[in-house]
Amino acid sequence: MSITLDQVTKRYQGSPVVNDVSLNVGDGEFYVLLGPSGSGKSTLLRSIAGLTGVDHGRISLHGRDVTHVSARDRGVGLVFQNYALFRHMSVADNIEFALRVRRMKAADRRERRKELLRLVALEGMDDRLPTQLSGGQQQRVAVARALAHKPEVLLLDEPFGALDAKIREELRRTIRQVQRELGITTVLVTHDQEEAFALADRIGVMNLGRLLESDKPDELYARPATRFVATFLGAANLLLARQTSEGIRFGTTPVNARAVERVDTGREHEVVAVLRPEEVELAPTREQLQAGYLAQGQVEEIVFTGAIERMRVRLQSGAEEAQLAGPAGDSGTALIEVTRTQPEQRAFPLAPGHPVFIGVRRIHVLPTPLSSFSVFAAEEADAKKLSQHPLLAGLAAGMKTRVSVRVDATLDTVRAPGSKPDLAGVAVIAAGPESARQVQVLLQRGAGEVLVLPETVVAPQRILIHWVDETPRRATLAVSASLLRHVPAEAVYVGILPEGASEAARPQGVRTLLDARSEAQAVHGLEMRTELRVGDVVEQLAGQLAESPDQLLILGVSNTEVLTERFNRLFTASPGWPMLIVYRSA
Ligand code: ADP
Ligand code: MG
Repeated sequence: MSITLDQVTKRYQGSPVVNDVSLNVGDGEFYVLLGPSGSGKSTLLRSIAGLTGVDHGRISLHGRDVTHVSARDRGVGLVFQNYALFRHMSVADNIEFALRVRRMKAADRRERRKELLRLVALEGMDDRLPTQLSGGQQQRVAVARALAHKPEVLLLDEPFGALDAKIREELRRTIRQVQRELGITTVLVTHDQEEAFALADRIGVMNLGRLLESDKPDELYARPATRFVATFLGAANLLLARQTSEGIRFGTTPVNARAVERVDTGREHEVVAVLRPEEVELAPTREQLQAGYLAQGQVEEIVFTGAIERMRVRLQSGAEEAQLAGPAGDSGTALIEVTRTQPEQRAFPLAPGHPVFIGVRRIHVLPTPLSSFSVFAAEEADAKKLSQHPLLAGLAAGMKTRVSVRVDATLDTVRAPGSKPDLAGVAVIAAGPESARQVQVLLQRGAGEVLVLPETVVAPQRILIHWVDETPRRATLAVSASLLRHVPAEAVYVGILPEGASEAARPQGVRTLLDARSEAQAVHGLEMRTELRVGDVVEQLAGQLAESPDQLLILGVSNTEVLTERFNRLFTASPGWPMLIVYRSA
């Protein structure tokens, strides 16, 4: 039985805890939903089971729309972390309960129970009471009970949660065996990546209510698309690098091109690179490195963990600036995590304080267009204050990236054309009477994105996305997808047809919306909703923003003049909304 979710959204107190989740779980597949506590996994699982209604979207089981079908009629089996067995009933009665309710004959019930107890390796335990069983055995009974009525879908919510490590592993193996033997479509929720790796055909990673990525475990580990998945699934060092026409560079060091995967090589820009601890090579001299040279460094700390040695190495020789975040989430420390195998340790024994040459065997560049932030203001104090703006600080923390501060009194003058872009990442300015003009200047100087922040901002619940023409479409979608992974807000693409557009233009308008939605989904893994409006672009956007203060606008432009000439009133509105301007010229 396949499971299909189409833009499923569930809100509590107006906030989406499951946000536009679309997903297809294949017949017989073992799918694991992985994410930190509070990311919406249980809510999504309960929606599939029919225990929670949804506010938006559809749920189908094998092509049958069950969005409004009761839990009992969905044919799913459920196991929870604390799925309390009926205390006063024997194992046999617990398992047979659902069959009794369904009026199955005693002899058939007995046969089915024997079969299930064999399946979960509890033969002969029929007459025990739950109190006479270990926690692991109780969960086995819970699994048998969930399977008794032959559901076609099995849903498990942190079923190993309360068990100790060894029992967990045994139960894990049993569940995998049962799942294979029955070929039952299974969704399991966990916050434990090791568990996800051990069980899943595919893993879906959730954060802030969104399903960020969904793929085979090895693919997700080797080629994550987002920094969240890169750092949640295994350990990762995040580094800032520059993508140039000659390849990836850290500071002035070009990284061995063979080690680097190709990404979009349009304009030169800052990128976020993932360096796994096991892909770092250490050597006593630069010549002895087999892999591409990254920097010199010094061993700071070593932890011996048996099979591998785990250490932190301080980057030196100009590469310090590249370090964004270590696996412990510590940012800007210039420390990277390295793991070495026994043979590597024997070949080059190390102790804290030792100098080393650092090489990288493999680096993975994330497709995210949002690498870091640079705050601009005319006065030092204003720049400092802006860099601590709650919305910006929240974004930077979520993105594990840095906010640099640029004091620049010349935002009202355009530099000589051809001057080298002095910008990295997203430029940030405070909203004010001059902000449209300042955005224009920053864009003309080479910024690709500018974030404009009013002094007081309500946490955005809704993000409006619009591009003025087709040129910045792709970049705007990419930026939106990246931003939305870090904000628990709903995304709406607003398509606007000009006033007096003929009836004939409408289907075309609707097509554009659908194309935008599928492009966002296919290329950027972003789910968004769409709305079609008719009228003047600025008026429509202003009207929609005026509906509530908890909105943010992402606006794609291909021409910087439109900001001052047409959109000025959006920048000067009071109290105003945060706006992210994305600029790509034709
Ligand atoms: P997870 O299983 O990933 O830990 P949940 O789906 O349990 O996450 O919860 C996601 C978010 O929704 C949490 O912030 C939680 O507090 C909130 N939430 C869950 N159920 C309810 C509810 N019945 N009422 C209000 N908020 C809820
Ligand atoms: Mg949960």
